[in-house]
Amino acid sequence: MTPPILSVKDVRKSYGRGQNRFDALKGVSLDIDEGESVAIVGKSGSGKSTLMHVLALLDAPTTGSIALEGVDTGTLKGRRLNRTRNKTFGFVFQQFFLTANSSVLENVILPLKIAGVRRGERKRRGIAALEQLELADKARNKAVNLSGGQKQRSVIARALVNNPRIIFADEPTGNLDTTTGGIVEDILFALNRENGITLIVVTHDEDLAARCDRRILIRDGLIVQDSKAVAA
Ligand code: ADP
Ligand code: MG
Repeated sequence: MTPPILSVKDVRKSYGRGQNRFDALKGVSLDIDEGESVAIVGKSGSGKSTLMHVLALLDAPTTGSIALEGVDTGTLKGRRLNRTRNKTFGFVFQQFFLTANSSVLENVILPLKIAGVRRGERKRRGIAALEQLELADKARNKAVNLSGGQKQRSVIARALVNNPRIIFADEPTGNLDTTTGGIVEDILFALNRENGITLIVVTHDEDLAARCDRRILIRDGLIVQDSKAVAA
């Protein structure tokens, strides 16, 4: 049997110390299989983003472990950690995180630069990703001049450029109107279905959650409901 793409065992995450300590995750365990689409839902402040950051190896848990394809990630540090993250994950955040005065293409190829891909190859793959998102005609435009929907499509192109195994999306439609948000959702689910990319979405949009294979409800730093556990 192939191991889950992510296996989380009793993860706790605290911020601050002493009197100021806040336990944002209080013992979370879950397995995510390759190709699943998973919604992480819960009220504001429940720990959704904290869980996503820990799953995506952007932040280390205080205690507990995270295995990526059966390999414990706790020993990954520095460059090896960065390389693993950059190679395996794509990120789509509500706030876009585009460099405003760089071109769309430069923004999209940033992960390839980090990966040390040479210039010609970077450009080829960047254009291909932009074509997939129907944005090739905007490659030379400054990111600042794009509409919200075009910005989020650029972010998805950037998330895709490294052929990630998992896309992490934190409130991906939070800054978009309903129609544009729907288009962005359709793109994410098409990538999940057609390319087999595992999709992990943090959202408080129940309609978006309902489109996922699986819904995980977080309350006060604990998983209180997991539709997969219920079905199993
Ligand atoms: P959600 O994404 O569900 O809104 P978060 O995971 O962002 O929740 O935050 C969970 C809790 O942890 C909140 O109470 C938040 O204030 C707290 N928190 C998040 N990040 C930090 C931090 N860097 N330092 C201190 N507290 C934090
Ligand atoms: Mg959040």
